[in-house]
Amino acid sequence: MAQAKDLYEILGVSRDATDDEIKKAFRQKARQYHPDNKETGNEETFKGVNQAYEILSDPQKRTIYDQYGMNGFRGAGGTEFDFGFGDLSDIFSQFFGQTRAHRTTTGPERGTDIRYELVIEFLEAINGCTKQAVTQPLEECAICKGTGAKPGSKLKDCRSCNGLGEVRMVSESFFGQVTQIGTCPSCNGSGKIVEQACSECNGKGQKRIKKTIDVKIPCGVDDGARLRWGGKGDAGRKGGPPGDLYVIINVKEHEVFKRDGMDIIIEHKISFAQAALGGHIKVPTTDGEKSLSIPAGVQTGTVLRMPGLGVPKLNNPARRGDELVEITVETPTKLSAEERKIFEKLAEVQQGKKKGFFP
Ligand SMILES: [Zn+2]
Ligand SMILES: [Zn+2]
Repeated sequence: MAQAKDLYEILGVSRDATDDEIKKAFRQKARQYHPDNKETGNEETFKGVNQAYEILSDPQKRTIYDQYGMNGFRGAGGTEFDFGFGDLSDIFSQFFGQTRAHRTTTGPERGTDIRYELVIEFLEAINGCTKQAVTQPLEECAICKGTGAKPGSKLKDCRSCNGLGEVRMVSESFFGQVTQIGTCPSCNGSGKIVEQACSECNGKGQKRIKKTIDVKIPCGVDDGARLRWGGKGDAGRKGGPPGDLYVIINVKEHEVFKRDGMDIIIEHKISFAQAALGGHIKVPTTDGEKSLSIPAGVQTGTVLRMPGLGVPKLNNPARRGDELVEITVETPTKLSAEERKIFEKLAEVQQGKKKGFFP
């Protein structure tokens, strides 16, 4: 057969022939062996010349041929190429975007991860809490033990692939017609199908089961945090490990407390008199009400720090940020008769002070 010969030999060119030399040689050989040529025509040789030209005129195919010879186009006959997958998987994936790994679905498969959104209160995030997550992971079907077969029903060879788990598909590509080997869609690559499907799981071997999981939220968790529970996702297949559960934390806003990294910020209003005199006031903290000392003459906008009353550090709750108290001095808008008297007296005294300076 012509295919057994070296392609360069078939065209009668050297291995470093230029594209032009290959084209010229092809035209000459094609004319010579064309079946219509009554003197030198030879269909078999003509096909070989055509094939040699098809490969050597294409830079990519020529590279494959130079590296692997006709093994790069195993089973060649006419224009139908059957690619060997063994050492050529890289080339295959380069041309078809498919790798060997995608073909082998017969091995253990890891279960899918589950994502669960959880909304918690601000104080729950600071102090930690335990919440319940209701998930529906895929579990092995208890009736068929994951086989998908009705109990008592046997597995039989898949008819689509004759039990091989692989199917050959002939398709058009820039190589001409190629045969691709793919996972059999009927049996998912296992080569077996069930005679009668399990009615509990519709033959899938897995079923979604509602589960309630206690989710312990550590103190100090921040909005958007992603917590992982290993093995709480969907069950694996064919002995593969289960997926994981990811809990995404959404922390609600609080009307008093705001978070800034490790610190908690509050705004606190004090009276005119408190601001002038200073002293101790009660302020809310995430640990309950605490006493805060304010200096006499404190102004609006002053920030007072309460060390160790901020956000606990994740996984090390003994370390905490601070609470920052932003002071606002309130000017009274409504005065009682008594307050009015006092303010008038105060005004008089302050006027007197001024008169003292500017008589
Ligand atoms: Zn089942
Ligand atoms: Zn099959």
